[in-house]
Amino acid sequence: MHFELPDDLRILQGRVLLDYALEHVSARETFGRKLRDHQGIEWQIADMASALHAARLVAYEAAWCYDQGDAAARTAAAALSKYTGADMVQRVADMTMQMFGGAGYSRDLPIERIWRETRVVRILDGTSEIMRQIIARDAFRRHDRWNAPI
Ligand SMILES: Cc1cc2nc3c(=O)[nH]c(=O)nc-3n(C[C@H](O)[C@H](O)[C@H](O)COP(=O)(O)OP(=O)(O)OC[C@H]3O[C@@H](n4cnc5c(N)ncnc54)[C@H](O)[C@@H]3O)c2cc1C
Repeated sequence: MHFELPDDLRILQGRVLLDYALEHVSARETFGRKLRDHQGIEWQIADMASALHAARLVAYEAAWCYDQGDAAARTAAAALSKYTGADMVQRVADMTMQMFGGAGYSRDLPIERIWRETRVVRILDGTSEIMRQIIARDAFRRHDRWNAPI
């Protein structure tokens, strides 16, 4: 597999998982058809690709904000990126495991390990609850500023 840099860890994990899923559903056949030819699988692939793409754009925006002067906006953008990235990678890992069926849960493949490792991202380096607190406070800050008497 080929990856261009830079990408943050969650985006990279998401891409690895999506690649595993794409490879697997292209090879595995059930009920006389490849998994990729079932509409339910297509929808899951679309959800994974959309979530990954959205998280990547949020990460790029956070990187852009980092280069700007506004510390509050920078903090909020970083929290948004951490929160959406952690959420995305866990959903993508879960869908990948589901598409692999029993093999995805077994320790013979790396999916189970990646699934377990992505779970901790909602705890590490600032939990998702604290990221959401920062995001909400930024939303209130913007709201209060917008509605402040002139
Ligand atoms: C594998 C692993 C590696 C780690 N590596 C490091 C490391 O290298 N360096 C380091 O410093 N730390 C590290 N940690 C610690 C990690 O940062 C903490 O586990 C994390 O910050 C959560 O703190 P806590 O475990 O004390 O949970 P707590 O602070 O007890 O929180 C428990 C739960 O309550 C929620 N919560 C807490 N306060 C609020 C609030 N005000 N509002 C809403 N919800 C709240 C939390 O989000 C969480 O879900 C690591 C943890 C793990 C699991």
